[in-house]
Amino acid sequence: SDRTLVLLKPDTVERKLIGEVVSRFESKNLDIVAMDLRTLDADTLARHYEEHVGKGFYGELVEFMSRGPVLAMVVEGPEDTWQVVRNMMGATNPRDAAPGTIRGDLGILFTENLVHGSDSLESATREIGIFFPNL
Ligand code: ATP
Ligand code: MG
Repeated sequence: SDRTLVLLKPDTVERKLIGEVVSRFESKNLDIVAMDLRTLDADTLARHYEEHVGKGFYGELVEFMSRGPVLAMVVEGPEDTWQVVRNMMGATNPRDAAPGTIRGDLGILFTENLVHGSDSLESATREIGIFFPNL
């Protein structure tokens, strides 16, 4: 099994795009093996975004990511799942994201970029451990 962590960020939940985004992963024939709607606290966000703690945009990122619930899920595919998901997400800044990607089709603002996906196999293992320690 090859798994990655995906977060549908508060903007996706607020804009009622959960179905739209989950539908894309299902259409790609990925398996959703865990799913949980929850509001993140500062400690969880500091663990999840440990490489960004202290950066100039970190305060804004935490404010955004904790303003409402996120949909956390573990997505599984046959191989290279984190890369498959990142390709479907598009570039970090939705302005640069190609049409056909989640961010390219649905987003405009940099911070409010709809989705998170782990950026390596190591990140996937680490982040799944934060959100779904029993998996
Ligand atoms: P994510 O980790 O959320 O999947 P990413 O891996 O594409 O996104 P990162 O570099 O890990 O991008 O940045 C994490 C998040 O922090 C981005 O998704 C974005 O919301 C925000 N962010 C990153 N860089 C900036 C920046 N320069 N200005 C504002 N927000 C930023
Ligand atoms: Mg990242």
